[in-house]
Amino acid sequence: MSKRVAILTSGGDAPGMNACIRAAIIACQRAKHTLIGYRHGYHGLINQEFITLSPDSTHNLIQQGGTVLRSARCEEFKTVEGSQRAADNLRDADIDTLVVIGGDGSFKGACHLSRYWDGQIIGIPGTIDNDVSGTDATIGYYTAIDTAMSSIDKVRDTADAFERIFLVEVMGRHAGFLALNAALTSAANYVIVPEFFKSEEHDIALIIKQINGQRALKGTVSFIIVVAENVWPNGLPGLTEALKKHGIDDVRPVTLGHVQRGGSPVSQDRLLATTLGGFAISLVGTKHTNIMVGEVNQRPVIVPLEQTWQGAKPLTDARVETMETLMNKRYS
Ligand code: ADP
Repeated sequence: MSKRVAILTSGGDAPGMNACIRAAIIACQRAKHTLIGYRHGYHGLINQEFITLSPDSTHNLIQQGGTVLRSARCEEFKTVEGSQRAADNLRDADIDTLVVIGGDGSFKGACHLSRYWDGQIIGIPGTIDNDVSGTDATIGYYTAIDTAMSSIDKVRDTADAFERIFLVEVMGRHAGFLALNAALTSAANYVIVPEFFKSEEHDIALIIKQINGQRALKGTVSFIIVVAENVWPNGLPGLTEALKKHGIDDVRPVTLGHVQRGGSPVSQDRLLATTLGGFAISLVGTKHTNIMVGEVNQRPVIVPLEQTWQGAKPLTDARVETMETLMNKRYS
């Protein structure tokens, strides 16, 4: 039976969100559902700001970064009044199903809304951090790894030319997926991630050992440390200071920042977005609600929303082991 479906993008934007909206438009067309798009995340719900997404809205969408529906963070939505207003608006617009593309914060928001609105809610994981449990990857994660990797490749060129130490800060304050994979793919010498950062004293001792080991063997060399944001006390200035205390003062900090969120999505993100967008719409009108659709071992899965932010999602063991081996080279 045809339904009225609404879709929005919320929280940190991620490359591939548009590819996912496109997939939802195509799937709704096939199933004869009407699809509307709320603009500016949960702000759009509160302000009843939406557009109709017709089949001709898909043109040139798959390759665009960002989100055509725009995204936002919305404090008002966390309040009872904010969510009640959003629920009233959904009832006024006669919406049967709300699809939320976002990260764990947006999913908490969706659960909060379900207290005031009894329509169907389906989440699709879209965040560069990959910190959502229940799915192997999130939309945007693969593109962000590529962006960080190619930026670090460029840093490597200048680091080599001047035989300098560079500290490169990448996003991912709660999960080290991006930092670990960016470090592995760019052959960085060391990575600092929340999952295996022990303490300033412990990590600085290891870093100094590695730098001195390399210097004893090859003379002055470049050395690249990838740092996940908000892990080292006081960030890159704190790490620069800690290195200085050990006699290493020719250090250059680079913060990659928001460039990691931008750009045209790579094929893996487009494929994930296309699969999950289509799968989410295939569940419209079924009993499944307050769930996220994800992919595990290349198969679509349905996960209760509450489980998506519970328990830390582990880094891939084999990759951690490889990185640990690279970070603990023996020089004697
Ligand atoms: P992400 O989805 O990228 O993790 P945020 O954590 O910024 O992004 O969350 C996006 C939005 O979701 C917030 O601005 C807020 O509107 C809503 N939200 C997050 N947490 C809650 C919560 N506990 N209750 C209600 N709404 C929430």
